[in-house]
Amino acid sequence: MPIQIYNTLTRNKEELKSRQVKMYTCGVTVYDDCHIGHARSLYIFEVIRRYLEYRGVEVKFVRNITDIDDKIINRARELGIGWKELVDKYIKSYYEDLGLLGIRLGLSDGKEEPRATKNIPDMIKYIEDLIAKGYAYATDSGVYFSVRKFKDYGKLSGQSIDQMLTGVRKEADETKEDPLDFALWKLSKADEPSWDSPWGKGRPGWHIECSVMSQKFLDTDTLDIHAGGRDLIFPHHENEIAQSEARTGKPFSKAWIHHGLLTINGQKMAKSLGNFVTIKDFINKYHDADILKLFFLSAHYSNHIDYNEDKIEESKKQKKSFNKFFHEANSWPLLKTRNKVGSTVEDKDKIDKICAKFKHAMDDDFNTSIALACLFELIDLGLGFVSSDKEDMINYAKLQLEDFSNIFGLTVKAIIITKEAKEMLEERDRARKDKDFKRADAIREEIKKKFNLYIADTGSTSAVSLIPPEE
Ligand SMILES: [Zn+2]
Repeated sequence: MPIQIYNTLTRNKEELKSRQVKMYTCGVTVYDDCHIGHARSLYIFEVIRRYLEYRGVEVKFVRNITDIDDKIINRARELGIGWKELVDKYIKSYYEDLGLLGIRLGLSDGKEEPRATKNIPDMIKYIEDLIAKGYAYATDSGVYFSVRKFKDYGKLSGQSIDQMLTGVRKEADETKEDPLDFALWKLSKADEPSWDSPWGKGRPGWHIECSVMSQKFLDTDTLDIHAGGRDLIFPHHENEIAQSEARTGKPFSKAWIHHGLLTINGQKMAKSLGNFVTIKDFINKYHDADILKLFFLSAHYSNHIDYNEDKIEESKKQKKSFNKFFHEANSWPLLKTRNKVGSTVEDKDKIDKICAKFKHAMDDDFNTSIALACLFELIDLGLGFVSSDKEDMINYAKLQLEDFSNIFGLTVKAIIITKEAKEMLEERDRARKDKDFKRADAIREEIKKKFNLYIADTGSTSAVSLIPPEE
């Protein structure tokens, strides 16, 4: 089955035909620590990226950082620090969050993600092109895009001009000709950060940076996939389309993917409501990013998702099942008391069927909630093979689970036991046989410290794992 993606633009599921995909997602505005709503966006697009790669699609991936806008200027003012200091602090924090979540950088071949303020000359050139083509005009407060000149305006959100008019507002200091028009360049006040331009000192509008940086860093006029949250469809993505297509005369992106939003206990997340959970808050509380990932995977990416304690408890249980399986499967070869039992064709068939179901679900618009359920079917089956000592099936189930877990960025690792570790394990078994439990415990601690391996006693042999045994 080919990969099918729901395209917001055409309102249809469409087959992904290309084997090389240029994908762009709108990134964060760096004026505070990222919260779990950001985490969902960052993570879900990482999963899509990984799944496409797993299916042999080459993905060029770009995500931007908005490092200048009104929120940044206002926050810096509140804190009494410079905007650069604020931005540097939160970019560092954002990269830490990516590390905590195991999410790769949003620039396939770069050391950092593209930042708005590092691409100003490209934006100025872009705006000049739009003015030259008659789509933009300069006033006393900046340069604006003339929305009514772009005949396809509204095609992404499917709204009429009247509906859109209610969604926009004119700022007090704006001098635009039509309320729908949006700023490409804002002239700065004396105490605001600014860059030189043909229209005077100012800064770029938010929408222009995405058009410019996506096309520049993906090196194309037409992206294959543009992604972001549903809240960005209007006006942000509508405006990106208008700017880009007005300038090139070509489609800006073939497909548009939008993820649903996140609420906490049924409420919108907001500092004023005291329900704001940052990525770091979550990790400090649960010490395991996988729990957050399992929670995200439980819903289809396009659906709204509500964060609450019950859901996280459920994810914690799921992580325990993973641990249990990998603990038992990795320990099995060390249990010398067990006899291997041959498996049957039916045994392998059972695993293959679940794997096919997993791929089918992911091919069908990345349905992670069905795919995740397949992993637990695989775990149940694998634990059955451990009980019945079917070694080749234990390994087969483990390999598949490792592959699929890797697509979801879940941390499971195959265990590697060095000769030294093996000798120590054997020494510990001898000590236990001689009932020298003090020595056995000391060796257990040493193994843990030296090799990061945990030990569980199963029968007369020490079993090892990369993860602590279940309490
Ligand atoms: Zn954007």
